Amino acid sequence: MNMSDDEIFKYLDKIHADDMTYESGRILGSMCTLPDPIGLKAYKKFIITNLGDPGLFKGTTHLEGEVISMIGKLLNLDKAYGHIVTGGTEANISAMCVAKYKFIEEHPGVVPEIILPRTAHFSFNKIIQMLSVKPVYVDLTDDYHINTQHLKELISENTMAIVAIAGSTELGYIDDIYTISEIAYENNIFLHVDAAFGGFVIPFLNRLEDDEILFDFKCRGVTSITIDPHKMGLAPIQCGGIIFRNECDLNLLSIKTPYLTHDYQTTIVGTRSGASTAAIWALLKHYGVDGYTKIVEDVMNTTEYAYSKLKCIENIEVRDYELNILSFTVKDHDTDKLKDDLLGYGWSLSVSENPHAIRMVIMPHVKCEHIDEFICDLKKII
Ligand SMILES: *Cc1c(COP(=O)(O)O)cnc(C)c1O
Repeated sequence: MNMSDDEIFKYLDKIHADDMTYESGRILGSMCTLPDPIGLKAYKKFIITNLGDPGLFKGTTHLEGEVISMIGKLLNLDKAYGHIVTGGTEANISAMCVAKYKFIEEHPGVVPEIILPRTAHFSFNKIIQMLSVKPVYVDLTDDYHINTQHLKELISENTMAIVAIAGSTELGYIDDIYTISEIAYENNIFLHVDAAFGGFVIPFLNRLEDDEILFDFKCRGVTSITIDPHKMGLAPIQCGGIIFRNECDLNLLSIKTPYLTHDYQTTIVGTRSGASTAAIWALLKHYGVDGYTKIVEDVMNTTEYAYSKLKCIENIEVRDYELNILSFTVKDHDTDKLKDDLLGYGWSLSVSENPHAIRMVIMPHVKCEHIDEFICDLKKII
């Protein structure tokens, strides 16, 4: 029954060979990418640490504090409170738990409502079920952003939180966070910004372009932000981030942990490795703002390259892009079938719902030569 080490790893290699690789350039529908070697090295070093028991891992716990502070500064917050978590889903759950605890304290017996757009990530469908809150969907403008006029009309006594998106999963679009923040501020409503994807793009894009995109704690109504290092931060998975403006908000998640070295815990997850924390700490120190700006400049150039190539093909309709995500449809071609046909040629893309279109995420592992090969195959299919 027992396998020799040789046999074990032979089998594991065989299984692993069935996985797609980022290096192939064929993964065009994922928000993750090949992790940076520096981050990976730090990750491996800390893989056996446990942030769930901070008294045992004082060094790693201190490191998490430094990382949260660095990410806070990136988001224009002098003093930040939060955690490195498993990903955007856990970050969004944490924020919505806080919003709910705050709301029910003041509104006993009311069914809390979250106002959110249909472009929100599916993690909010999990949240709606888990927290038994009522979703109230705000209209989208013709170009798939939150209609802020309609948002104002939806606010009521029952509104627990507003969710806005800075880099939507399907189109990479950024809601008008400044206006939404003013609405939330005036009405004293919890505003969560889901920048899981955009959080490691927009701050650097702002250094490249003249017009600043306002999306973070600079907007006074923003209560919390989700930002994922395991997407454009180039950290290995699982590395997400949740940042709160106020310490008292994070502390609402506090649960007593009697038999551990520390008295309380403010994460959803209990036992958790410090590997991701070490990885993003190393990457932030290694790249700094200038390094990440270069990464963003490169992916935006590749995105423009792919956009202009797609534009040149007859019958293809490409949407305007805001971040490194493209969306297109082909006239008289069924989108789902097109996706399957592309997979037949070895290209993995996904189909978005709002709008129904092919979705292409231009992550750092996607290079112009991959785009050329892709365009060539796409032309053959259509
Ligand atoms: C990816 C993404 C999430 C979910 O993040 P996971 O790390 O997959 O849990 C949430 N919101 C947005 C906008 C995302 O792009």
